[in-house]
Amino acid sequence: MSDEMDVQAILRTARVLRVRERIEQACARAGRPTDSVRLIAVTKYVSKEETAELYKQGLRDMGENRWQVLKQKLVADLPVSWHFIGPLQTNKVKEVLRHVSYVHSLDRVKLADALASEAQNAGISVRVLIQVNVTRESQKSGIAPEQIDGLLEHVLKQGEIEVAGLMTIGVQGADEHAARSTFARLRALRDRVEARFDIKLPELSMGMSADFLWAIEEGATMVRVGRELTGDGKNLQDSI
Ligand SMILES: *Cc1c(COP(=O)(O)O)cnc(C)c1O
Repeated sequence: MSDEMDVQAILRTARVLRVRERIEQACARAGRPTDSVRLIAVTKYVSKEETAELYKQGLRDMGENRWQVLKQKLVADLPVSWHFIGPLQTNKVKEVLRHVSYVHSLDRVKLADALASEAQNAGISVRVLIQVNVTRESQKSGIAPEQIDGLLEHVLKQGEIEVAGLMTIGVQGADEHAARSTFARLRALRDRVEARFDIKLPELSMGMSADFLWAIEEGATMVRVGRELTGDGKNLQDSI
């Protein structure tokens, strides 16, 4: 092993340990057990080799936001749960469905129908989270909060789709107060629709590198962490 590889391996181990430690601390502050939060390693900045190294560090949930990139990583044949976290086109549903444990980005009826019909063809069911654009940013995907009832009503009729919870992306550059308020609103929305439809939506997928601690304090059960775990794929030493 070259010295350069040694350095990379040490940095990687340190980053994974640090993220785990911060999750533990956030859970402790929130009075939650550490295992109530699932760490999803977002691998979009790194190669399949680097993804395999993360697997060796014990990471078992991995996230990608593009099918073309996820597909390349499947060849490594790692026994991980893949989470599809990006915008999903209906013409990709057939393939995505067969390889992922969760789709975090359900945001429209048409996509729900495509998921249900492909799941039926494949004889499987699909676990989804509904992505909500809590802050109504125009450049962001996700359904507007007031449209979730209509989408849920539609989806709950489809036996092939299991709605596990809600997902959101925080506002970039938000301070603690703003970030937490976005996450709190997703949680409140979840509580409201659970009561209205008499269902359980246990998962809240919220929090990324910049804001996962605050998301955990607001009830996140899944955090999607890229950069803090992997670096941004450019200068690994800068990222620690
Ligand atoms: C890229 C991405 C992440 C991870 O972002 P980082 O800031 O690198 O932690 C999380 N969620 C989604 C939907 C993403 O596209």
